[in-house]
Parts: sequence; structure tokens; C-alpha cells
Amino acid sequence: MKKVLVLGAGQLARMMDLAGSPLNMDVKAFDVRTNKVVHPLAPELIYGDLTDGINNADVITAEFEHVAHDTLAQCEASGKLLPSSQAIKIGGDRRLEKALLENCQVANAKHVIIDSKADFDKAIAALNLPIIFKSALEGYDGKGQWRLKSAEQAEQIWQEMYDFIAQSQASVPQGIVAEQMVPFERELSLVGARSTTGEIAVYPLTENHHTNGILSVSLAAPVCQSLQTQAHKVFTKLTEKLDYVGILAIEFFQVGEQLLVNEIAPRVHNSGHWTQQGTDTCQFENHLRAICGLPLGNTELNRPTAMINIIGEDSVPTDVLATPSVTMHWYEKEKRAGRKMGHINISGNTQAELAQRLNAVAQLLDPKAFPEVAHFAAQYQENQN
Ligand code: AMP
Repeated sequence: MKKVLVLGAGQLARMMDLAGSPLNMDVKAFDVRTNKVVHPLAPELIYGDLTDGINNADVITAEFEHVAHDTLAQCEASGKLLPSSQAIKIGGDRRLEKALLENCQVANAKHVIIDSKADFDKAIAALNLPIIFKSALEGYDGKGQWRLKSAEQAEQIWQEMYDFIAQSQASVPQGIVAEQMVPFERELSLVGARSTTGEIAVYPLTENHHTNGILSVSLAAPVCQSLQTQAHKVFTKLTEKLDYVGILAIEFFQVGEQLLVNEIAPRVHNSGHWTQQGTDTCQFENHLRAICGLPLGNTELNRPTAMINIIGEDSVPTDVLATPSVTMHWYEKEKRAGRKMGHINISGNTQAELAQRLNAVAQLLDPKAFPEVAHFAAQYQENQN
């Protein structure tokens, strides 16, 4: 039995445990808020502190990239951490991420790194409006971001960013990345795995829709082969450069026929949750296979699948389950506004069937809790007709 310790005790560790059980894997989670190792499905069961967790594990991995650097160092010193602390840190710092993309000559939005007011002025001169400013650290789900649409807003935005940097509690200095806003057609992501032997398996590109900066719907359906090939090449370049092991997610902006990398996540990813029903081997199992030195599982799309995130709600009408090929995944979290509480996966044998089922589910969901889902579903169905 392989023993895996996950840094972080949220839904991603939980779903790794659920995927690892049939493979006879023992998954534990390190809760960074309490500094305790817990059972991913029953956090009241405690198995000691970080040192105990490291000693008891065969392999250590992470479910989020904002892990304290001293924790990463302690794990890496054991020789058990996969992916490496370098890869995890890159995913947690947009400055390092941009440096990696430049280093690998991977297309991304034009940008300027900001540490001072002089850099801020330089960014405004170098980039065209609108510009998006993103905190280098601790940014996720659209948090720590400012959009400059007209020059008059500059002073106010600088002041807000300055205050944000001053309040940072991060263990490394906070900074800002200014980025040219890209007039993209679609947001896509590629989730893939690289094993300890360098084997690579990627899932099909996924189309993502956000509401208030949070992923609301993902759609996995057959995509244009040239985009898939482009994304696969980027995945290979980045993972080989980092000698990466595990699942890595790459978020893209599609501009015409070109993909620009927005960001990378060195972990299983929300936009890959559909793989639980749309493929033979879900991203959670493939992550475990990769870090445990096992062959990777099939990542082909078996049938078109969509995922709806349940955000800030602890129940949805149970009639949703009456639609064929619908599965619910709850995370057993306490209800809080904006919190990811669960997700719904919906599959169809064809895109037309998926569209019809997606609409049936969307009709049952409260539009206040699921804004834009019904609109997305209706548009998707229209495109099928
Ligand atoms: P991020 O946290 O970098 O994923 O940004 C959150 C959201 O802001 C993205 O999903 C996009 O919708 C939007 N966004 C971020 N960067 C850009 C950009 N350079 N151009 C246009 N939209 C962007």
C-alpha cells in the first residue's frame, strides 16, 4: 500500500483519496491551518503533525500552490515531494511563472513586473489600456486584481495596490504583474500528467466560463486538433523543463488560432473535475499514478462532459439526479458565500445529448445561485442545432 501525504486538506485532497482507495492507496492530508495531518474524508481523525506525516508517507504532494516555503523545504528534504518545491513555488508566484514562460519561449500576454511606483509608470507607458494588474502572490479566483481602463484611474489603483502589498503576510515579498488585457475568444485549459519516467498523457482541452472571477462551468467536448496539438506542445515544454511529476493544469486564452498561456497550476485543477465521468482515468487517479511511479491511465474523452461548480450553496434540487448521466460531488464544507461546495458532472453520448441534459439541469438550478449557467446551456444547445 502506497502512503501519500497531500499538503492541503480541501476538496482536492478529498477527491484524491476517493480515487486512490481502489488502488489500495492510503491518502492523508496536512491541514495548513491547524498544522495537523488528518483523514481527507474525516478531518476529525488526526494522525500527528507535519513531521509525523512526512515520516509516515512514501510520497508527498500538494493540492494548492500557496504552501509556506518552510513547509515545502521540510518536505523536499525528505526526498519524497512530487512535484518539486520549485514547480509548486512557480505556480504560487506570477513573477516566477512569467519567467518560466519566457524561458521556454511560450506565448503569453505582454507584461511588466512591478515593484515600485517607477515600475508602475513604466508599465502604463509600455502596455496599452486596458491593463490588468495581478498580485504576484496569493492571487486566486480573481482576487488581488485591478483593471485599469482609463488613465484617470491610475493613481487610485496604484494606491490600492500599494496598500495591498503593504498588508501582505507572505513569507516572500509581494509584488505585482501588469498584463496587457487580451481580447480573447475563449478561455481554455489543458490538464495533463507526467510520470516519474517522463511519460506524458494529456486530457482534451476544456472550455471554461467564469462568473465573478470564479469558474462556473467547464465543457469538455471534441476540439480543433491544431489547438490540442499546440496545447500539448506547451505542456511538454513546461513539464520537461521542470522535470515535472504529477498533474499540471495550464490555462489559456484563445486568440484566433493562437493559445496564450494565462497561468499554470502545479496540481489537480477545478477545470479537470469533468474527467471523473468523461474519461477512463480521472485527473485525481492519474496524479496519484504519476507520483507513485505507476503507468498513466487513458486520458481520451469517452463522451462529451460538462461540469457545473456549486458555489456558496449547500443543496440543489435532488431532481437534478433524474436527468441521465448526472453525478453530484459534494465536499462536505460549511456553507459560505463564494465557497466551492461541490460540483455536478453531466455527460451525453453526443454533444446534442449533453446540451439537452445540461439544459434540463440548468432549468432546475436557482438562477441567483447559478448565474449564467442557464444562459451558457441555452447557447450551447443553440450551437448544436
Ligand atoms: P487569473 O487569476 O489570472 O486567472 O485571472 C482571472 C480572470 O481574469 C481570467 O479567467 C480572465 O477572465 C481574466 N483575465 C486575466 N488576465 C487577463 C488578460 N491578460 N486579458 C484578459 N482577461 C484576463
